[in-house]
Amino acid sequence: MISGPSSVQMSEGIPTGPGYSRSTGTVRALNLMIDFSDAPGEGSAMERLAEFAPQTRAWFATSSYGRLDYRPEAPISDWLRMPKSFKEYGIERGAPFDPGYRKLVEDLVRKADPRVDFRKYDFLNVLVTPNAGPSALDTVLSVTFAGNQEAPVADGVPVANASFVYSRQDDGSGSYAETGYRVLPHENGHVFGLPDLYTHEGGGAVGHWDIMSEDWGAGNDLLGWHKWKLGWLDDTQVRCAATPGSTEYTLTPLPRPGGLKLVFVPLDSRTGYAIELRARGGNDAVVCRPGILVYKVDATVDTGGGPVRVYDSRRDSGGCTNSPNVHAELSDATFVPGESFRDPGSGVEVKVLATDPEGNHRVRVTRR
Ligand SMILES: [Zn+2]
Repeated sequence: MISGPSSVQMSEGIPTGPGYSRSTGTVRALNLMIDFSDAPGEGSAMERLAEFAPQTRAWFATSSYGRLDYRPEAPISDWLRMPKSFKEYGIERGAPFDPGYRKLVEDLVRKADPRVDFRKYDFLNVLVTPNAGPSALDTVLSVTFAGNQEAPVADGVPVANASFVYSRQDDGSGSYAETGYRVLPHENGHVFGLPDLYTHEGGGAVGHWDIMSEDWGAGNDLLGWHKWKLGWLDDTQVRCAATPGSTEYTLTPLPRPGGLKLVFVPLDSRTGYAIELRARGGNDAVVCRPGILVYKVDATVDTGGGPVRVYDSRRDSGGCTNSPNVHAELSDATFVPGESFRDPGSGVEVKVLATDPEGNHRVRVTRR
């Protein structure tokens, strides 16, 4: 396990800091669908919920190997009309203390409170009518305020973890029906304490290997490190290569329940290399080169600053996918039998030895 300094707001360190939602067992997501006088709800509020709810529940069930029982609930089945116009709230992509957001949360708590017992829920999803604000193709407003203990209070509990989803994300084909929901598991990832893996340069640090990096386009899963951080892997499914020497491991494909999923090579108390086997299956829809993914995890780097960097086994190859909204270059970043990852600086080497008929990969990890 590695951990970050307390100055890092949202760290890759384990264990996740306090204030976030539980990520195992049964969690109850309160869904409120809201609209405004200048953006009246299009269609019914339950149709808006249906864009996200069953898919997000299924996504988490698959990704967590059944360890997260995500219950989307909507005690108010109609649009909740906010007292001010959308324009008046002045919503921009913002920080939790932005006056506009503070006012919006206060207002929606006041409106919902007579019909909702906020103590029954682990976190809040605010599904905004899609006609409020800019198209997601222009500006992505969707945002999560996580672990925020200074949030407005409802029924005696702070609304500390809240995801806001605006607009609709199409999958690159002009349709959002298949994959548009994926913004919600991304935003809820923050509620569970996961940082953003895209940076201001885009998805070039992790590519399509984690939904916290890319939540547009074809389905993808979480990195093994994130599954470990969220409590979805047993201790027996993770190995730590902490001592000098060579050890061989048989990794099983990440989508398949059971078996060894992750080898971690700590470099110090803050950073290390993670090694896992990625193959198509489960939530991973577009893996075009199954193999061993090697990435560096740095618990000192905050959300959006590139806390994870995937090592590209084939730099400047252009990648192996044509799928829209998938960072192509890193799509063939994996190592296959006969190939090795080497970091001369730290003396870490990962050699992929062989595969077996089940698709498991044998690797040898060596460190000085
Ligand atoms: Zn995010």
